[in-house]
Amino acid sequence: MHKKLFIPGPVDVREEILKAFSTPMIGHRTRDISALQESISDKLRRLFYTGNTILLSSSSGTGLMEGAIRSFTARRAVVFSVGAFGNRWAQLAEANGVPVDKAEVEWGTPTLPETVDKYLATGKYDVFAVTHNETSTGVMNDLGAIAEVRKKYPEVIWLVDAVSSMGGVKIEVDKLGIDVCITSTQKCLGLPPGMSCASVTDRAIEYGKQVEQRGFYFDFLKLYKFVKEKPYQYPTTPSIPHMFALDKQLDYILNTEGQERRYERHEKMAEMVRSWAVDSGFALFAADGYRSNTVTTIRNTKEISVADLNKRLGEKGYMISNGYKNLKEKTFRIAHMADRQPEELQALLDLIREMIK
Ligand SMILES: *Cc1c(COP(=O)(O)O)cnc(C)c1O
Repeated sequence: MHKKLFIPGPVDVREEILKAFSTPMIGHRTRDISALQESISDKLRRLFYTGNTILLSSSSGTGLMEGAIRSFTARRAVVFSVGAFGNRWAQLAEANGVPVDKAEVEWGTPTLPETVDKYLATGKYDVFAVTHNETSTGVMNDLGAIAEVRKKYPEVIWLVDAVSSMGGVKIEVDKLGIDVCITSTQKCLGLPPGMSCASVTDRAIEYGKQVEQRGFYFDFLKLYKFVKEKPYQYPTTPSIPHMFALDKQLDYILNTEGQERRYERHEKMAEMVRSWAVDSGFALFAADGYRSNTVTTIRNTKEISVADLNKRLGEKGYMISNGYKNLKEKTFRIAHMADRQPEELQALLDLIREMIK
């Protein structure tokens, strides 16, 4: 039996999109692929609210995170971590020999603009990385507040991990001044895993020229060059099935559902889970004012067995997430992202309440 996924990626994929994955192949050095790529880029620019260049990678989002921190750090990067995925930025830098400092907060709390200010004021950094929506803790950072502070340091390259929020929450890349914004297909975009997307500014690309060791596969400058010079192609063979499906799904997001309605639906579902959690005697893990609209991390104050609950949910055709690593059993997570509908979420919440009675 297929379990309805209420985990923070991969998510359930609409039938029409699954079908698009069986479109017959086309060559990756053809006009047809360039046209497809151009169509996807135009649509992603609308989704990201940007005029910047769009890059696709046939990897999950971590690949582009690795490529970004390596391609643009000539001196030293600072990573503002609010959880597991923030720490990943630092691990990626270290694994690539990129000098990095990590500013980590207590889990459940956000990155504050004054902290960003304090680090950038040292003048030590040419790159800083932020997690928009931390999937381990359910914290959603305030990018607007960080963007305000960043105006004092316009030369620093700003990288944003928007893997679990882009497509579910409005992120106005150009207005915020984000240099590199990254997302994956298997979260709010509602596609299977295996592809990721980024927007990148020309000035970041220009800056990256002085970085000598940018690797090969995730070298942002190489990806950019192929998109620009050989219009809309990639250095290596892309996941063409993902491209067919992404193009179709972007039509659905932008035109059928509409961006604003999509954001409202995510917000509504987040509110449903938050009030359900509190009414059921649990508490919310993320600090008030910084709670994610795409995934809710619930403090297991009732000390139920989350593993057992998930097993029983599985028998009914549902799946939620236990807490992330050390938060296992101390928290559990309910994702409300992509094309999940409020009625489906309500059915899950009713079922859990019945089971823990
Ligand atoms: C899922 C996730 C990642 C990792 O993305 P992959 O596509 O699995 O590589 C990174 N950051 C956040 C916030 C995520 O939720």
